[in-house]
Amino acid sequence: MNKARYYKQTDDGLLCLLCPHHCRLQPGQSGRCLSRGAADDNSMQLYSYARVIAANVDPIEKKPLYHVFPGRPIYSIGSYGCNMHCRFCQNADISQKRHTGSELTPQQLVVEAQSIKDNIGVAFTYNEPGIWFEYICDCAPLLRQAGLMTVMVSNGYLSSEPWAELCQYVDAMNIDLKSFNADFYQKICGGRLETVKDNIIAAVKAGVHVEVTNLVVTGLNDNPAEFSEMVDWLADLSDRLPLHISRYFPRYLEAAPPTDPAVIDSFVALAAKKLKFVYPGNVAVSQDTLCPACKSVLVKRHAYEVMLNYRGAACQCGEKLPFVDENSWPRKERMA
Ligand SMILES: [Zn+2]
Repeated sequence: MNKARYYKQTDDGLLCLLCPHHCRLQPGQSGRCLSRGAADDNSMQLYSYARVIAANVDPIEKKPLYHVFPGRPIYSIGSYGCNMHCRFCQNADISQKRHTGSELTPQQLVVEAQSIKDNIGVAFTYNEPGIWFEYICDCAPLLRQAGLMTVMVSNGYLSSEPWAELCQYVDAMNIDLKSFNADFYQKICGGRLETVKDNIIAAVKAGVHVEVTNLVVTGLNDNPAEFSEMVDWLADLSDRLPLHISRYFPRYLEAAPPTDPAVIDSFVALAAKKLKFVYPGNVAVSQDTLCPACKSVLVKRHAYEVMLNYRGAACQCGEKLPFVDENSWPRKERMA
């Protein structure tokens, strides 16, 4: 039994407050996320606590995070369940189904992460880490003490209070911005656009390094005007925020054909007018990072092969480099 936080008792069952769904649960029932539920003693439990379903040593580029220790590996783990139900989910076998997995306590996680050569830390990924809240809150301080990073790959769909708490612990996040259309979020994903936007802003303001991924699904969210609106909004937040524009392939309940690579090309060109770091994803074209001032190549990427052409915290032209790496991490003000 692993007691969960962010809920309240009501006359009509437990009310989960962790995410905006606010599931109301009678004893024995689980929430929409599958991972949290009301136990027979009427307490809220995180059933997936320390239950690991997938664990791999991945290049950090695979999260994708292109501006965090380029070329280094990160220990990546995930559990089961999700509080969204995207028709095109790329990981539905773990996100939409219950599993048992194997136990990995926070202490064991640190030992495991330390044993991996060149490892920069732990990425909570594969399924939605926000609903693994209590486990991450227990792991992250131990990882920080051990000099390891905490990374999250998230849908950004959590209530503001627990989200703010995670932002204190997490060094870097890739957050999905699935569309700039509220209807799309509601009907295709089962979430709310405004919450995700608010949480992206909150993470940036809390000092988390944020990169955003937009998966372009044929016929569903490939409207250029809507995409431009999203880019304008991101650029207003920060024109140095990296954006990954990813090609979709049919998965789970969605059968639309794969995104035409020409659409990805045109969206990359569109976004690059406003944002300094735009990367195509799931396509076989250049994903290099250029210095925004002098345009010299700072990082060369081919598939997951990475070549660094920079040293230190500034480009040879004097421009401050956009990376979280040994020159800028750990940040002292976040160590308290
Ligand atoms: Zn430069």
